[in-house]
Parts: sequence; structure tokens; C-alpha cells
Amino acid sequence: MRHSLLPACLSLTLCFGLSFAQEQQYAIVIHGGAGRISSNPERRAERERILKHALTTGQKMLQEKRSSLDTVEAVVRILEDSPMFNAGKGAVFNAAGTHELDATIMDGSTRSTGAVGGVTTVRNPVSLARRVMTDTRHVLLVAAGADRFADNYASDPMIQRVANSYFSTEYRRASLKRVQQQEKQKESDSMGTVGCVALDMNGNIAAATSTGGLTNKKFGRIGDSPIAGAGTYADNRTCGVSCTGIGEDFIRNAVAYDVSARMAYKGVSAKTAIEQILSSKEHQVRGGIIAVSHDGQIVTEFNTPGMSRAAADSGGRFEVHVAE
Ligand code: ASP
Repeated sequence: MRHSLLPACLSLTLCFGLSFAQEQQYAIVIHGGAGRISSNPERRAERERILKHALTTGQKMLQEKRSSLDTVEAVVRILEDSPMFNAGKGAVFNAAGTHELDATIMDGSTRSTGAVGGVTTVRNPVSLARRVMTDTRHVLLVAAGADRFADNYASDPMIQRVANSYFSTEYRRASLKRVQQQEKQKESDSMGTVGCVALDMNGNIAAATSTGGLTNKKFGRIGDSPIAGAGTYADNRTCGVSCTGIGEDFIRNAVAYDVSARMAYKGVSAKTAIEQILSSKEHQVRGGIIAVSHDGQIVTEFNTPGMSRAAADSGGRFEVHVAE
């Protein structure tokens, strides 16, 4: 029995593999943070411009048959370099008035992943996360150790070093003041975390997330973004996921992995899995989730008033929505 099933399974796999390759699908989705909807038209316009540029760059790379891993890294770097988002330049301030940055990258073809938490001098944390994945036997490096790890890349143009003040903007300084004057932090004050998920023409999924965390967070606090399975996840068999929102909710509920697990174990679509998680009354998850499934379905869902997002695929979809 076993022997007769084996060739059938193999030919099925081969068949799916071939038909997928022939179709040459790609899909890409980006988020620029969940939170409120801004009434500032200039900020909205600038955020829209950057998101469009990031989406166009990612789409072009996928069309040129570049890997999803290269694509998500390149897209997140663009967003990290823009002061409009809470990642890299423009990151929020912690309670000590400095910046500590978190990022992860994950390769769905091998489930390899690398992350950095609480880095203070690395211009593009997503690229350092990728070095953790490829150049060490570890998954996550944090704080001074992660910054010291970056010293190994003095001649690598992808790992530029900056003073911590490079990340500061007046906009985020005003947010810190406002939050410190409030008794209770509102979820809207961290808006602007970035993430990207892509499916390339070889059927490989990758995901990446980068953030400054929550405004006024305690010194040393690590959020969900650099925790594989919480804020970021990728598995070619199911989907790639990047999350944004109150990181503690996403860690407690292993949200990014839960999306993949619901698909694998319950057989539901990525959209259903994410809707179930974001509407749960028992396990509160405040924020937004983007995903691309193994068959190219794009999902963007949130339970906050808004979430900036952008999506494109080989079927002609190209859209950008700006919440702030
Ligand atoms: N999830 C991020 C964190 O908690 C913040 C965000 O997405 O806005 O660090």
C-alpha cells in the first residue's frame, strides 16, 4: 500500500510544483503600522508617496525573479530610511528619551530566521537581523550584544552605523511628551511600525518586520516584532505574516504562528484565520496583521481605526491605503 502511494504523492507534488512554476505568481503586501487615522494631509501624502515607492520597488524585484527574502529586506529598508514610519529614522522614543529598535526577517522555505532587539546604532535593523540569520547559529541578538555584532560589518554598506540621535524627529518627540502627560498610553501613539511579506516566483515566502516599539516604553522592553512566531512568521506550506499593534498582545497569543497553525491544523484560509484572531473576545489582540498565503492570497486586517498598507500581485492588483 505504502509503495503504491509514494509515486502518487511524488507525482502530485511534482504536478503542483510545475503548475505553480508555470503560472509564475508573485504577491507582496506591506504595512506601515496600525493605529488611528490622521487628519494631517501633508503627512498622509508623504506616507502614501513612500509606501508607493516601496511597493513599486518590491514588485519590480519580484517581477525580475528576485527572491522574496531580498525583496522584503529591500522594502523594509526603504521604510526604515523614511522619517514617516516608526522604524529606523523616525522611530518612537522610549521612556529614557532614546531609541531602541527591534526587527526580524524570516525565510519560509527553510524557516530560518534572524532578529535583533533593542539595537541603538544600526541604521537598518532588518539587515542586521538578516546577518544574524545567515552568519550565526542564533536567532535573536539583543541590546549591546547586537550592536557589538554589527561591529563585524564595518565595511558592509548594508550595515551602516549612526548616532542614536539620527533616529529622532520632532514629531516623535512631541508624541513622547504627549504620552508622558497622559495617565494611560493610547494605542495610537506608536503608529508606524513597518512590515512586508512576499511570495516570489519560485513559490518562496519571506516576511520581515521593523519597529521602534511603543512610545514611552520601558528601557529594555522588547516587543513582538523581533520574536518569530509573535510579530513575524513565514512557512512556505502555509503563509508569511507580519503584525503591528500592542506587542504584548501578540507575544502572549503567539499570533503570527497562530495564523499559520490555524491554516495547517484547521484548514482555514489565511483571511479566516486572521479574522478569528482579531475578533477573539477571550484573547485580546489589538492591532493589525498582513499575510500572503502559499497560493498568493493577500490579507490585510486590523481592529484599530486604521492601518497603512499596500499590496500588489501578478494578477494586476496594485493599491495603497494610508491611515496616517
Ligand atoms: N508591535 C510593535 C511593538 O509592540 C509596535 C507597533 O506595531 O506599533 O513593539
